[in-house]
Amino acid sequence: MKIFGKNIVYAFLILFLLAWGFAVLVGSIQETPELSLTELVDKVRAREVKEIVVQSSNLEITLSDDSKFISKKEEDTSLTETLLNFGLTSEDIASFGHKEVNPSGFLFWFQAALPTLITILFILGFIWFMGRQVQRSNGQAMGFGQSRARIVEPDSTRKKTTFKDVAGVDEAKEELKEIVDFLKYPKKFLDIGARIPRGVLLMGSPGTGKTLLARAVAGEAGVPFFQMSASEFVEMFVGVGASRVRDLFKIAKKASPSIIFIDEIDAIGRHRGAGMGGGHDEREQTLNQILVEMDGFETHDQVIVIGATNRPDILDPALLRPGRFDRRVVLDLPDIKQREAILTVHSTKKPLGKNVRLRRVAERTPGFSGADLENLINEGAILAARENKKEISEEAILDSIDKVILGPARKGFVISKNEKRISAFHEAGHALVAASLPNADPVHKVSVISRGRALGYTMKLPTEDRHLYTRSHFVDELAVSLGGYAAEEVVFGELTTGAADDIRKATAIARALVQRYGMSKKVGPVAFGDQSEHIFLGKEIGHERNYSEETASMIDREVSNFMQRAYETAKKVIKSKRDKLEEIAERLIENETIERDEFARMVGAA
Ligand code: ADP
Ligand code: MG
Ligand code: ZN
Repeated sequence: MKIFGKNIVYAFLILFLLAWGFAVLVGSIQETPELSLTELVDKVRAREVKEIVVQSSNLEITLSDDSKFISKKEEDTSLTETLLNFGLTSEDIASFGHKEVNPSGFLFWFQAALPTLITILFILGFIWFMGRQVQRSNGQAMGFGQSRARIVEPDSTRKKTTFKDVAGVDEAKEELKEIVDFLKYPKKFLDIGARIPRGVLLMGSPGTGKTLLARAVAGEAGVPFFQMSASEFVEMFVGVGASRVRDLFKIAKKASPSIIFIDEIDAIGRHRGAGMGGGHDEREQTLNQILVEMDGFETHDQVIVIGATNRPDILDPALLRPGRFDRRVVLDLPDIKQREAILTVHSTKKPLGKNVRLRRVAERTPGFSGADLENLINEGAILAARENKKEISEEAILDSIDKVILGPARKGFVISKNEKRISAFHEAGHALVAASLPNADPVHKVSVISRGRALGYTMKLPTEDRHLYTRSHFVDELAVSLGGYAAEEVVFGELTTGAADDIRKATAIARALVQRYGMSKKVGPVAFGDQSEHIFLGKEIGHERNYSEETASMIDREVSNFMQRAYETAKKVIKSKRDKLEEIAERLIENETIERDEFARMVGAA
């Protein structure tokens, strides 16, 4: 738009100059006064004429006093003839100088043609100008079909991502090293007649490092890397997506060996024709084009397509067929060792305090993705910077965990002394029950600093990642959940709304024990309620009831039995260790937070 405006200004400027030049020229011609032929004849008779220059029909007359005039005669009669016709004698005619100027002289023609010339020039200019405009907008329309891939050249000066930057996902790295090998030494594979893999699909929850890994592959292999997010293929206009795909593959093939990375491929790679999300022709066409392009690879095309998605469950099966995305790499949320490794990678360039034990940070961050962990270290650094410290302390990082999970501490949030007391006993209840039951997770931190919606919190975490959970673990955890509730009841003889969230979560666990895990003796090993197949990466969509009313009431009874027993266990613990409870609660009221080591000392555990 800016360029267009500038052009208009130029056009006007040129126009103005032309008009001005024309006016001056015309003016200069007209400046010389004109004589009629009769006047000229009179002046010749009076011997006032010095010279007449003839230029076809134009006469330039110079008088004896050197003043100049112009006049006109008829084209096909000569000047002499004309004058004779006017009754002048040959004597009169000889009295002045007589010059004939070649009528084909440049100046003459130029002068004659100037108005036409200017008009033509102006029209040409106008056409050219319009043409450019059209071309530009045309170019834009053409550009729609071009891929908008971001290209990372192998010798890019930007910092290269390599496998070293990716921590903890060793299996995935192994798998991808093969791809790198292929791109680096294709001959080795081709000689033995191996079919080259065409597509690799990286699957995993958000933030597990899919994009990072793809970049690392490119960095390791040292080949051009074309990155595009699937949603960028699709625009308002039908057919653009397919055309962009064509373009992208064309460029990539030219640059081969190369890598095409299509991020968030589920945006176009959804199950075709599936009802969910509504049919979308454009998406289907784009997807089809990708399939066509991948099928069209020749053996010597060393182009590998890497796709990434966090919803492999909704991908079209055609994408997963051999010859397309036949390699699949699953990236799980990191376990404790992997978390430690990721934390190490991200803290190498940051000034970490000597006391920082990343293992301990890893322990406290189950369920964190690689991206979360990176964010955590960054939050720690910000916190340290805000406090004008030169290095990041463990405390800063641990504080950031709470912040990342529960939201920032609400420092300005004032609670009354009474509420703080209730909250302290509530949290002390959780913590005490957790410390007293053998199968509950150990307490890492107890706090009455309110964060997010919680007035206080008790953080208890497994020392190791678990994949199997026992019934006794759940039973103890239920009791811990009700520890706060029981403490309020025992100490104040009154209940508050503060336990509502605990109860809700505990009930959900109890229900799962009965309905899904077959952990209720009365109900037995039967799963109730059909969890439809969409449980992937922690997402549950449909839930269907497939049991009788009778069974429903039995389930409800069992759920409530679990809860009842848990409540009794919690209450027993609290009653029997009332003095410890008071001690913890008082400490909380005074200090607001009790860390793991101190807590362990207080309850007399290791
Ligand atoms: P996604 O799987 O959603 O594509 P990204 O690859 O974009 O996740 O990861 C986001 C950021 O998280 C990365 O830039 C990196 O800093 C960090 N990260 C994720 N996984 C890892 C990992 N395994 N090792 C190191 N850093 C990681
Ligand atoms: Mg990504
Ligand atoms: Zn609670």
